[in-house]
Amino acid sequence: MGVSAWFRSALPGFRWHGVEERPYKEEGSAPFKDISRQVLFEDPALNCQLRYFEMKPGGYSTLERHEHVHGVVILRGHGECMVGGEVRQVKPHDLVHIPPMTWHQFRAAPGEAMGFLCMVNMARDKGQLPDAAQLKALRSDPRVAAFLSGKRSQG
Ligand code: MN
Repeated sequence: MGVSAWFRSALPGFRWHGVEERPYKEEGSAPFKDISRQVLFEDPALNCQLRYFEMKPGGYSTLERHEHVHGVVILRGHGECMVGGEVRQVKPHDLVHIPPMTWHQFRAAPGEAMGFLCMVNMARDKGQLPDAAQLKALRSDPRVAAFLSGKRSQG
């Protein structure tokens, strides 16, 4: 049996038995591209959810900030993330902690899907999108500007 009350077996392609692949978020609610969501664990006793997000090559998550924090573990592929105005390349098993009210976004490399685990509170505030002035401030750093426009940085 692949699934029971406490066990769900892994399937090929970063899927799990009995876990539905869902849209990343409501279509049109915020900018994002080619990203899916699976909720792996959710329990009020933990007050957290463990999700697996996967972006197709060149896909990206929403540029946002919020009061709740994220604990992220890269599981597959390569890409980049921007957290608080700093851009870093990421690879499998890298850890990314996203503090409260910190702009963040993940981008898969152009030729490779990228997937990550993301731990989050079950009850949490909605993501805020940057306004024009906040975007301008972020783009004032050339490396962030290149990241936001989807141009892959070096090193
Ligand atoms: Mn977020």
